[in-house]
Amino acid sequence: MLYDPSRLKAVLFDMDGVLFDSMKNHATAWHEAMRRYGMQMSREEAYLHEGRTGAGTINIVSLRERGREATDEEIKAIYQTKSEVFNSLPTAERMPGAYELLCKVKACGLVPMVVTGSGQTSLLERLEHNFPGIFRRELMVTAFDVKFGKPHPEPYLMALQKAAVGPDEAIVVENAPLGVRAGVAAGIFTVAVNTGPLPDEVLLSEGAGRLFRSMNEFCENWEKFFPAIQ
Ligand code: CA
Repeated sequence: MLYDPSRLKAVLFDMDGVLFDSMKNHATAWHEAMRRYGMQMSREEAYLHEGRTGAGTINIVSLRERGREATDEEIKAIYQTKSEVFNSLPTAERMPGAYELLCKVKACGLVPMVVTGSGQTSLLERLEHNFPGIFRRELMVTAFDVKFGKPHPEPYLMALQKAAVGPDEAIVVENAPLGVRAGVAAGIFTVAVNTGPLPDEVLLSEGAGRLFRSMNEFCENWEKFFPAIQ
């Protein structure tokens, strides 16, 4: 898909690893929860599964480690452990550069939206506190709205629907391979921001149209990226 800044109306931001520097905590929480249930999952692997539903991630690891899928009870227990570990870790900070970029996006008359597979209420509640006046709640897409997690395009298609814009009138900002895949599958130009430990190539091979190394770098290059107001 092509990127035509003159058509842009909405910018769809993923949350973990894009707006909040929370992926280190998720990786630690997954690693620790799996360990408690006798399964191996490296922190780096957590980045590869980022965006999947909890059940999807647990089943992939369970199949590999135990040769079978997890039962519904196990999924519930493991995911609860993961959430408990996550909530016991220090609160994730706002990603450096994220608020500044959001302010620029908004100042350009574009609609910033959050599209996340997360159901972590603690982070969702922090959005307004950390990004005051940026997001409209009714335009948010979270784990509570969608049936399929990323890499399914549903979350991004739902965001387009909520904003009443077409795929060529939006861009996606994602940090995870499966998130990039979801944005691309929705037919939306997808910007990868590589805030984690994976090689750039992993994100580019999923179809990212542009890659920045940080939200700060994206923010600093915003005027070049979106020249429509110059
Ligand atoms: Ca993410």
